[in-house]
Amino acid sequence: MLKRGSTIGILGGGQLGRMMAVSAAQLGYRCIAYAPEGDNVVSDVCDDIFTNKWDDAAAVAAFAAQCDAVTWEFENVPVATAASIPEDRIFPHPRALETAQDRLNEKRFVEGLGGRPAAYARVDSRADLEAAIDTLGAPGILKTRRDGYDGKGQWRIGSDRDAQGLNLPDMPLIYEAFVEFEAEFSVILVRGQDGEIRFWDSTRNSHDHGILATSSLPAGEAIAAQVDRARELARQVADALRYVGVLTLEFFATRDGPVFNEMAPRVHNSGHWTIEGAATSQFENHIRAVAGLPLGSTATVARSVTMTNIIGSDILETEQWLGQPDTHLHDYGKAEVREGRKMGHVTKLER
Ligand code: AMP
Repeated sequence: MLKRGSTIGILGGGQLGRMMAVSAAQLGYRCIAYAPEGDNVVSDVCDDIFTNKWDDAAAVAAFAAQCDAVTWEFENVPVATAASIPEDRIFPHPRALETAQDRLNEKRFVEGLGGRPAAYARVDSRADLEAAIDTLGAPGILKTRRDGYDGKGQWRIGSDRDAQGLNLPDMPLIYEAFVEFEAEFSVILVRGQDGEIRFWDSTRNSHDHGILATSSLPAGEAIAAQVDRARELARQVADALRYVGVLTLEFFATRDGPVFNEMAPRVHNSGHWTIEGAATSQFENHIRAVAGLPLGSTATVARSVTMTNIIGSDILETEQWLGQPDTHLHDYGKAEVREGRKMGHVTKLER
């Protein structure tokens, strides 16, 4: 168990780290961050930040030497960087990053545990893409295997002709058949150092241009009927990775049951509602797990919850939210307002 006053290191500089650091402070820890130069909003609430490159081994070692425990908030931290930190000090174990950073690996891993992803094919060339469309049909989605987020690195393929017109990026890709889903949801769990697992309620997630727009509870019948099966898979994934901290699996609720979409080895945007909507937030329980503290209750404390992301210039018009009852605004403090950029979120509860 980390003593009060200990230092937790956060790899990554974004809003997830910022919200983690706030929870860590509440529990009596101090945080330092490591993230290459950029709009690192974590630094507003951290004691110090190393703005070195990910492959600066000496800087990573100096950072780790100042930390009693290290975690990450960014899933594209290079595996070699995370793996250079002594194993007994980094949570979750970097094997989780290795599994989740490549969509092909991730799907194979989850299939090995009995999960069912959308039909997919590996694409390394135009011939592969044509073969994939022949076998799996269109519509489908072509995705980069690595580094995609918020709908970036994805191309909807409506027909053979779309594929012919596409300038194929020179990187490993994956083609997925389009899933006809009734709804989307995520399973968010926390696993402690002793292997105990707790789940938060699964919200209904709606997306706009590949970016999460809202997460809401109650999630509705279609999702409620599938959550148990999805949780079973998430539990197996967490156990297989001997995971410590918060882990997220995203699913499509279909007529034939839950279809696995992707996993994130970290706290997740669709769990931001837990700050006010659950007895213990995903951020606090993540820190508790990393610090070896007992986990807190994940119970929902409201009748209904809606978390809405604030994207781009909407962050300049937040007064509308402030006058509403039980409505909680989170501004991530990002200096640069960009279209499609996650700038904050607002959670509205009905108790
Ligand atoms: P991802 O980054 O893979 O989570 O994709 C972002 C969003 O695109 C998902 O949340 C879905 O709304 C949509 N999407 C991704 N893959 C598929 C698929 N195979 N079938 C249908 N919709 C998809």
